[in-house]
Amino acid sequence: PAATGVTGVTPNIPSGLPPAKDGGPRMNATFVSLARNSDLWEIARSIRQVEDRFNKKFGYDWVFLNDKPFDATFKKVTKSLVSGNTYYGEIPKEHWSFPDHIDQDKARKVREDMAQRKIIYGDSVSYRHMCRFESGFFFQQELMKNYEWYWRVEPSIELFCDIDYDAFKFMADNKKKYSFVLSLYEYVETIPTLWDSTKKFMKAHPEHIAEGNSMGFLSDDGGDTYNHCHMWSNFEIGNLDWLRSKAYTDYFDALDQDGGFFYERWGDAPVHSIAAALLLKKEEIHFFNDIAYYHVPFTHCPTGEKTRLDLKCHCNPKDNFDWKGYSCTSRFFEINGLEKPEGYENQQD
Ligand code: GDP
Ligand code: MN
Repeated sequence: PAATGVTGVTPNIPSGLPPAKDGGPRMNATFVSLARNSDLWEIARSIRQVEDRFNKKFGYDWVFLNDKPFDATFKKVTKSLVSGNTYYGEIPKEHWSFPDHIDQDKARKVREDMAQRKIIYGDSVSYRHMCRFESGFFFQQELMKNYEWYWRVEPSIELFCDIDYDAFKFMADNKKKYSFVLSLYEYVETIPTLWDSTKKFMKAHPEHIAEGNSMGFLSDDGGDTYNHCHMWSNFEIGNLDWLRSKAYTDYFDALDQDGGFFYERWGDAPVHSIAAALLLKKEEIHFFNDIAYYHVPFTHCPTGEKTRLDLKCHCNPKDNFDWKGYSCTSRFFEINGLEKPEGYENQQD
């Protein structure tokens, strides 16, 4: 299926809705959700919220991806909820399996060991395929090649505030390539050698490391060690052409060669974050204070009462994670010389 036109309003937006605040051409953009058939009712909740708070005003498409065929019920229900067009893709086997160079015995022993140590998803093969897929392949799917921008949505998320402007257009107009709402420290047990692999890549490919990058977000000693800060990737609005660039694909290929998706349990969140922090200029990463979001167990509720009232937010500001000790968002503000939103001091514990 071809992408819908990038200009004009899709015919299935009901009339009588207020126009987008920031009118103008629609972006070549889509929502994207990786899901199983069994995730239907959880992804349905997410879609309902995204539609109510944002997409019913814009009618962007939605791409669903699965390692198995989607069933008729999944397609029927999701199609009914999305105001844009929906597309359903089955992931090719080579994007959801062990590369040949992986030593199966070694990988199995790692899973057994992590199970004993009770590391979250430590014993799971499918979770590892998922993390590798989200790190290296979702943006290479045939259906995704039709688009320049994506917004990732997972099952059971919540959005708490209206989004009255086109967030994709905001990204483009402000030269942003990657964005986030929540940041935190990764479980060190899942990525013991990710930074070693990253340093090896930086040495091999200095041409890919951006001048004016966000190394200060990742490291407190100029790059020697990783502080485990990352942006949570279950929410992302980003540029697909950046992920398809030689810089990003060289980085993913280097990591995949080192095998840590299977010999450890590297998550796509630290992989995307490290890539964004090193391969992009720091101004190209955006923090959306005004997109209020929940994914178990963390909430981003906008700092600043005026913002929350203007946007009809229904989150409790006390739940906001941004300024608490386990968040890395303060660090993001500091390295970018940004002023923290009014009222942040009251949300630090
Ligand atoms: P968590 O957020 O890290 O706890 O992981 P989730 O269980 O939310 O999984 C992350 C995303 O991958 C979600 O969009 C899931 O629907 C999807 N996902 C996880 N495992 C699988 C799988 O085996 N097959 C498919 N098709 N999707 C999966
Ligand atoms: Mn999730």
